[in-house]
Amino acid sequence: MQDFVKNKARKEIFDLKPYIPGKPIEEVKRELGIDNIIKMASNENPLGPSPRALEAITKNLPQIHLYPDANCFELKKRLAEFYSIAADSVLIGNGSDELLKLLAEAFINRDDQVIFAQPTFSEYEFVSLIMGAECIKIPLKNYTLDLEGIFQAITPKTKIIFICNPNNPSGTMVTSIQISTFMEQVPDDIIIVFDEAYSEYVESSDFPDSLDYVRQGRNVIVSRTFSKIYGLAALRAGYALTTAAIAQAIERVREPFNVNTLAQVGALAALDDHEYVLKSKQLNREGKQYLYAELSRLGLNYVPSEANFILVDCGRSCRTVFNDLLQQGIIVRTCDHFGYPDFIRVTIGKPDDNQRFIKSLENVLGK
Ligand SMILES: *Cc1c(COP(=O)(O)O)cnc(C)c1O
Repeated sequence: MQDFVKNKARKEIFDLKPYIPGKPIEEVKRELGIDNIIKMASNENPLGPSPRALEAITKNLPQIHLYPDANCFELKKRLAEFYSIAADSVLIGNGSDELLKLLAEAFINRDDQVIFAQPTFSEYEFVSLIMGAECIKIPLKNYTLDLEGIFQAITPKTKIIFICNPNNPSGTMVTSIQISTFMEQVPDDIIIVFDEAYSEYVESSDFPDSLDYVRQGRNVIVSRTFSKIYGLAALRAGYALTTAAIAQAIERVREPFNVNTLAQVGALAALDDHEYVLKSKQLNREGKQYLYAELSRLGLNYVPSEANFILVDCGRSCRTVFNDLLQQGIIVRTCDHFGYPDFIRVTIGKPDDNQRFIKSLENVLGK
């Protein structure tokens, strides 16, 4: 059987590294037999889902015997209005992860090259390797995307460049001026993907208007999600804004019913829940300031973040810190696989969560 799979499966699949998800609360309950666990590992919204989304989902529950709208008509239309872009430029996916995979399936040929930062969101490597691409990884500089380095790495084989902005796991962003310099130099036959999963949290006024490149007709894809500030991670809904031509190509490889009904109605309602989005952003801003101050008090270095998570240098093995925090019911993310063996990544929570995290960290580090 082993040999059979080795011989018959596509060889690309053996290069894939499994995705490391944040540890689920239920798993920690089972393994440690403790209650009152907080998850600060996957950048979910600590406020829970938007109340308007919950209402829409509940209202539509009796309809789940019917197939969803294969074209996500209402959600696409609303997103098109929201961004003042044509509806045929909008793609909806089963999470933005799916859209990244569909992009790769539609565009990557074996031995094409793709470029992205190191470390960054692991999906870019995953979807590229499945299609047999060669991945060129450009180390961050001072925890920030090195756009000059990325530009220098371009060859005639480059098909896609992934720009995660703000970058996961560092939380840093590249500015509007940096991106415009980059876009002036980059050949237009390379697809530039701006993954902006955390853009709604950005406080800096220098954040690029990447959608403007789509409006100009550049070969750009802007990817966003309902999983983070909109609080709908379990439903799986993400979207991309791109040229009508690229959207059509991606539509060709999409499964017809990729986005379920509850995700469609929930996302539609959440998008218009401005109060909830504002409240989430404010909570994040306050939590961030609190955590910055407390981490400084503990003498710990951290990377200032434009997102809803912070990379923290614990000054010792992140695996130890992770396990010790777990014993106290707090789930964070280890960063050794990102190349930061002493760092953890913590999602900014509600005030209570943040306080408990700091207290436990203080405890664990023996401060
Ligand atoms: C969380 C995250 C996503 C969102 O993925 P979904 O599939 O929409 O849940 C996309 N990109 C980055 C960088 C992320 O951190």
